[in-house]
Formats: sequence, structure tokens, C-alpha cells
Amino acid sequence: MDLYEHQARELFAEHGIAVPPAEVVTTARDAAPAARRLGGRVVVKAQVKTGGRGKAGGVKLAADEAAAELTARRMLGMDIKGHTVEKVMLARPVAIDTEFYVSYVLDRAAGTFLAIASAEGGMEIEQVAEERPEAVARIPVDPAEGVTEAVAARIATAARLPATAVPVLRALWRVLVGEDALLVEVNPLVRTTDGHLVALDGKITLDDNARFRQARWAADGPEPGTSPLETEAAAKGLNYVKLDGEVGIIGNGAGLVMSTLDVVAGCGARPANFLDIGGGASAQVMADGLTVILADPDVKSVLVNVFGGITACDQVADGIVRALETVTLTRPLVVRLDGNNAARGREILAGCAHPLVQQATTMDGAARRAADLAHAG
Ligand code: GDP
Ligand code: MN
Repeated sequence: MDLYEHQARELFAEHGIAVPPAEVVTTARDAAPAARRLGGRVVVKAQVKTGGRGKAGGVKLAADEAAAELTARRMLGMDIKGHTVEKVMLARPVAIDTEFYVSYVLDRAAGTFLAIASAEGGMEIEQVAEERPEAVARIPVDPAEGVTEAVAARIATAARLPATAVPVLRALWRVLVGEDALLVEVNPLVRTTDGHLVALDGKITLDDNARFRQARWAADGPEPGTSPLETEAAAKGLNYVKLDGEVGIIGNGAGLVMSTLDVVAGCGARPANFLDIGGGASAQVMADGLTVILADPDVKSVLVNVFGGITACDQVADGIVRALETVTLTRPLVVRLDGNNAARGREILAGCAHPLVQQATTMDGAARRAADLAHAG
């Protein structure tokens, strides 16, 4: 999950990186008093989870509180690369001497973290990286060692940052580790005309695998771009991704579910979703999964593909039967059970004799059936 700039700044400040005083408002009326508290003259900044705001008109200087209100009014509701501006941050302006770039990012290919830094930060950093890659230092960071004084000094030297950047580099590493982030970026990190280093803009991407430790950001609502069904599924604790096809899919294990998507596609139909019920398949999880999938009007048939390993097929079958007591099945359901206790599971399903439930013994056969039913429906 990406954080808003104002949230990133909050974390920078907590870890000892200086940021200009600022306030966030959601209405233009609130902008004037906020600007007054900040000294009148402010930078008005659209809060959107996308880069390049400055170039898109999302960063404006306002000379006084009246101008701040006017600028906030124009900015709120504005569209920046598909993101609607719902809040703006007012920040006390900083007199800039130099703009630097610093970030840490997980380098999956190299299996480590990477410090990326440049003495030529600011809005043109992408262009600098492309045209003069030698101006951007890329230093691997061993996560076990972390950013020690010596490592920070090495990064600062390689990027031609001032020596005063060393404590900032160390603090930024603490943000990455302490907040479970995959990316922390300060662009620009500025040297003010009176010689202080201040983080003027920040981007943080948190590791969603640590979401259970990040209750602090949950109140912020769903991520922009999340469909209502995904939000509902997430609230039920389901591992669900909405796709744009017509065959609803439930399986156990991410690998099996992905293979199932491929096989359905191979049968000429399109998967409507990814849903991994994981190990064990309680009636509750089945009912929740079916409820979410059937709420998608594009779904014409549903395919349950379970290979019983640790999960026993008779328990999955029980789960389906009990789920059908609470969920009204409105489209055909094809079930393929194989592996641990498959025979018992098939008997249980056959016993329920639901007119919309069919069984298949192979994954290919089940996918073919579900695809045909989707086309017929
Ligand atoms: P971005 O376009 O989304 O990266 O937004 P930034 O917050 O990085 O701002 C873009 C640019 O606006 C910065 O690189 C600065 O040049 C300028 N800027 C932002 N805040 C200030 C400020 O307080 N004072 C001055 N002089 N310039 C600022
Ligand atoms: Mn920036």
C-alpha cells in the first residue's frame, strides 16, 4: 500500500527527519485558517497517490491565506492522472538552495535492498537517471547490516551529497525497517538557503504482508483503484482479486488457482476473479467466497477446484453444502474435488442433489464444463 505524502512526512518526522510544518485540509474553507497558523504564505499540495504532481499543477505557492483558500478550492476535486484530489496539504514554504534525491527500495532481482541517491534531485530525476545514469548512485544495502554510519557515508560520497545527509540516510533506513516499507523515497531532500536538510516530499510503499501490523493506516479506507467487491472480500479476510471475465473461480492454493485461471482461459472463457481459500475450507469461507463471486453481475458460472492435500475434500464438500444453506445459488456451480478424501467428498456433494451443482472429476473437464455453462448462460 502506498501512503499519502502527508502520512510519509509524519513517519519521517517520527524517525527524526526534518519536514516543514504543514496541515491537511479537505475543504477550501479550512485552508485559510490553516494557512494563517502556518504564517500566511504556503505551498498548497494535492494529496494523491501518484507522482509528478508538480508538473500536473498539484503543487502551487500561495502568497497569503486568501490565495491559499482559492488555490485549495481549485485543487480539490481536480483529477491528477486518474486520481481525484480529496485533500490538500498546506506547508510552510522553504527557501531552497539545492534539491537532492534519496531512496531505499527492495531490489527483488538482486535479493537485497538498494540505496538510490543523487545530488540532482527534484522533478527531473527520471530524466537525469535516463540521460546521465552516472549522476545517480545505486548502492546495495545488506539488510542484516543496515545503514550504519559507514554505509551512509559511502552512499553520500557516491551520490555527492553533503556530509550532513549521513544522519538523514540513517533515519530514512529506520523508516524502511521500522514501518515495514518496500520503498521510502525523499524527492526532493533539500538543502535550505540557511544550510538545513529538509524532506520536502515523500513517498512510502508499505509491505502488505505486514498489514496486520499497520492498523494505523486502515482507517484511511480502501486503496484507490480497489473495486467494491475487492473491498468487501478484504473485509471478509478473503484472498480475492476481481478480473473481467465470466467464470467465477474458487480454489485452494495460489498456484492451483492461477493454473485454474489458465485452464479456463484455454477453454475459451475468461476468469471473473482469483479467489484462493487456502488450506482448510470452512463453510463460512465457502459461503463468503460464493457471496462475493455471485455479487458480480458478470459471473455466468462458478468453478470450485480443490485438490485435497492437508485440506480434506469431505470437509470442503461439507463446507459447500452448508454454504448453500445460506447463499442462494443463482448460477451453475461446477465442483472438482481430487486428492485427500475425494471419494467421500463427491458422495457428500452428490447427496445434496442441488439442481445447479455439477461435479467433474478432472480439472480440464471441470473448466470445460464451467466455460460451456458460462457461454450458454
Ligand atoms: P511532486 O511533483 O509530486 O514530486 O511534488 P514535490 O512536492 O516534490 O514538489 C515539486 C517541486 O516543487 C519541488 O521539486 C520543488 O522544486 C517545488 N517545491 C515544493 N515545495 C516547495 C517549497 O516549499 N519551496 C520551494 N521553493 N519550492 C518548493
Ligand atoms: Mn517530489
